[in-house]
Amino acid sequence: MLAKSIYKADLLCAYQQNLLLSTEISTTLAITSNLSTTKMGRRKKAAKPPPKRKTIEKLDVTFNCPFCNHEKSCEVKMDRKTKTALISCTVCLEDYQAKIHYLSEAIDVYNEWIDACEAANE
Ligand SMILES: [Zn+2]
Repeated sequence: MLAKSIYKADLLCAYQQNLLLSTEISTTLAITSNLSTTKMGRRKKAAKPPPKRKTIEKLDVTFNCPFCNHEKSCEVKMDRKTKTALISCTVCLEDYQAKIHYLSEAIDVYNEWIDACEAANE
């Protein structure tokens, strides 16, 4: 019986200590996070990394030609107004016109061209 109550008191004590510790930790965390945000703000102004998205998008609109097998020689021109796209090879000048909708991407036009080529070959 005695041992049990001591155990309980110990637990309570540990619990209280934990509570104290956690409040202490949260206050120090708040202080450090405040510090880091001010530091981050300063760092952002000093050096801004250049956006890399545009170069990736540009790479995505050139494809390998199914006719002359040149790599990245086919460019897609999307005309959203007339809902048509023209893909053409800058090397062998093969081209293909495809109908597009508002969700179409250059890769869709290319895939349609490949499909049309395969259908013609059959
Ligand atoms: Zn070609």
